[in-house]
Amino acid sequence: MSFESLGLSAELLRAISEQGYTEPTPIQSKAIPLVLQGKDIMAGAQTGTGKTAGFTLPILHLLSDRPVERRPRQVRVLVLAPTRELAAQVAESVETYGRHLPHRAAVVFGGVNINPQISRLRGGVEILIATPGRLLDHVQRKTVDLSQVEMLVLDEADRMLDMGFIHDIRRIMKCLPDKNQRQSLLFSATFSNEIQQLANQLLNRPELVEVARRNATVELIEQVVHPVDKNRKRELLSHLVGAGYWQQVLVFMRTKHGANRLARQLETDGLSATAIHGNKTQAARTRALADFKQGRVRVLVATDIAARGLDIDQLPHVVNYELPNVPEDYVHRIGRTGRAGHEGTAVSLVSPAER
Ligand code: AMP
Repeated sequence: MSFESLGLSAELLRAISEQGYTEPTPIQSKAIPLVLQGKDIMAGAQTGTGKTAGFTLPILHLLSDRPVERRPRQVRVLVLAPTRELAAQVAESVETYGRHLPHRAAVVFGGVNINPQISRLRGGVEILIATPGRLLDHVQRKTVDLSQVEMLVLDEADRMLDMGFIHDIRRIMKCLPDKNQRQSLLFSATFSNEIQQLANQLLNRPELVEVARRNATVELIEQVVHPVDKNRKRELLSHLVGAGYWQQVLVFMRTKHGANRLARQLETDGLSATAIHGNKTQAARTRALADFKQGRVRVLVATDIAARGLDIDQLPHVVNYELPNVPEDYVHRIGRTGRAGHEGTAVSLVSPAER
């Protein structure tokens, strides 16, 4: 299947080919035609499957297909994302795929000054990407008007529920047009009963879109377990990174404190390392990620929440320094590697207590 056959506009096809994409991923082939037909969808897809383009492309198409005048502050598309990083990445995709189209987009999340966001919204924005808390701040200040939203996307809905955003989501829904007056798309890696309930409330006769689960499709990820004593994990990690000439490694820890400590210890072992977690300022997180992406830092030590949504092209190595508590987190963690057709290894350091 080709992108051309999906019926996307010439401006979008041009942006797609400039990205170097030659054919749609499975989620894109399935979701794009349904969204173009105006259907609600409930899609099972994790980060790394190309889901962002799967909703961004048809949304951009529909927006330009039906131009309407809106007052400033009235947004036409709302994308809700659980974390700042994911929100920023979706905004980047909107920018990339929409670069030959005139739409104005904005991203709002907490942890940064609200005033520039307010001025941006005042200038008129059609596509708003937001984390729930900061969006509600804007709603309360009346700096955004959601009453004319035509399309709603809930990205990584399962993670939003895990992070306790359900009440915020409910409050946001009250500001939107009724579910049969808008188009709604829900993306989730897992389908718990809670997600099902949320879908029933938010979606209007949705089409189900499922692609093979990430951990099933991605034979490209080699999964390795190293049994090791808890107090020798760091030594083993330094050895693996050093002896294997690993140049870019994402390491997962359960706690922020643990992440900080490990990053410091790796530095003393002579490996450039930095930690990324929720206690760091947005500026520090952005800098850590940029240093890691550009190869100035070899090891990025992250907690699950901070790592959610990180999209690092061709990340070769992921290490579970500590195993996560739930299987979904394992799937999400190792899904940071083996993306978009590249190979990767996921190594778990497992102490006797973790067996
Ligand atoms: P996502 O699951 O949306 O986070 O996307 C994962 C990665 O796949 C991103 O780095 C995208 O740039 C890339 N990607 C998305 N669609 C395609 C495609 N059709 N062909 C190749 N790469 C893609």
